[in-house]
Amino acid sequence: MDIDLDGEKLKSLQISSLDEGEEEDEAHKDDVEYEVSDEDDDEEDRVPMTLGFVEKPKNPWSLVRQYFPSKAGGTPAWLDPVNLPSQKSCLCDFCGEPLQFLLQVYAPLPEESTFHRTLYIFMCPSMACLLRDQHEQWKRHPETPSRSVKVFRCQLPLVNSFYSCEAPAEDGTEQPLTAGAMLCNWCGTWKGDKICSSCRSARYCSAKHQTAHWRSTNSSHKIFCRQLDTSGKESESAASNSLWPEYEIINEDESEFDEEMSIDYGSSSSLIPKSRTDGSFGKLQTYFKGHGDNRSWASFQERISLAPDQVLRYSSSAQAKPLWPVSSGRPSKVDIPKCNYCGGTRGFEFQVLPQLLYFFHVKDGEDSLDWATIVVYTCENSCNGGVGYKEEFAWVQLASQSHL
Ligand SMILES: [Zn+2]
Ligand SMILES: [Zn+2]
Ligand SMILES: [Zn+2]
Ligand SMILES: [Zn+2]
Repeated sequence: MDIDLDGEKLKSLQISSLDEGEEEDEAHKDDVEYEVSDEDDDEEDRVPMTLGFVEKPKNPWSLVRQYFPSKAGGTPAWLDPVNLPSQKSCLCDFCGEPLQFLLQVYAPLPEESTFHRTLYIFMCPSMACLLRDQHEQWKRHPETPSRSVKVFRCQLPLVNSFYSCEAPAEDGTEQPLTAGAMLCNWCGTWKGDKICSSCRSARYCSAKHQTAHWRSTNSSHKIFCRQLDTSGKESESAASNSLWPEYEIINEDESEFDEEMSIDYGSSSSLIPKSRTDGSFGKLQTYFKGHGDNRSWASFQERISLAPDQVLRYSSSAQAKPLWPVSSGRPSKVDIPKCNYCGGTRGFEFQVLPQLLYFFHVKDGEDSLDWATIVVYTCENSCNGGVGYKEEFAWVQLASQSHL
């Protein structure tokens, strides 16, 4: 595959003792080297990053909230299961549909108040809304920002009313101390404050999801609603079949890939299994094919090619910077709003890569969801108090700014 060869070409620049057999690439060396070293953001190379990969969970229980998971797709595992985001926070500000759960990252920090800490991303699956979101994110500090991508931060001290102070049992038997809020039967995501007036049992986050459940062809509530006295319980899990497929997010240090690659490069025992290098990176390439923004792309590609199916890059270091696939469409410092709660500065904490769309089986197409990267900026104080879920800031970079 083209993309892998390109990646190896780039790597061979750094590993000169091992690049025999790559002579045909000599011609490319100079311009590529120049482009890469010219990139200011190469400073970020020195900051250790943690990479996230998606895997089907070995044990389904590992994704429930009392195990503090990092996960993508399906429904969120709410850290604070009671004081969930509500009302407008749960909706796309453009189409008004409830947002869909993209992923959550368990990212505790050393302070007492952040012993448990999870960041959540929700987004509207409509590309039309994401394009409108693009216009909105460039507006500096609007009174009420309109977004189709929202990030929430939730944190708890070690001693809290929801979970035991002991590490969770490793056999899956751990139970939370308290029940959580009742969730929407359709999306399994947001609080189910609205109750079906007929059966007084089914709960919904919104009239839209009540209607969707009623009209659903394979799990219509119509049937259960009318037979409630005879047929027992409706399934407890989310009835919606449009949620993204569920994965566990596994962490690995980027440095491990670096070292292995420099030792093992060229040998048959590549650290990256074959399966990791096909689909996802191929899809990634289609985003940038024919894109004029080659310099940023070359540097991005070189870095990503160490572990092509990474979906997430994380660092809690204040020196860490996002890796931008495209040089246009980056925010400057003033584009990142201050924390809504403490007024403090927000800093880069993690970014989501477009490979996730491949694992979510998002098909290529005019109106299908598509991004180059989603960069999450969080309050540097990780401030405490107030609402259970504090809204943080996402910057979305599209693969092609020509959409605008
Ligand atoms: Zn929308
Ligand atoms: Zn819902
Ligand atoms: Zn009902
Ligand atoms: Zn703050």
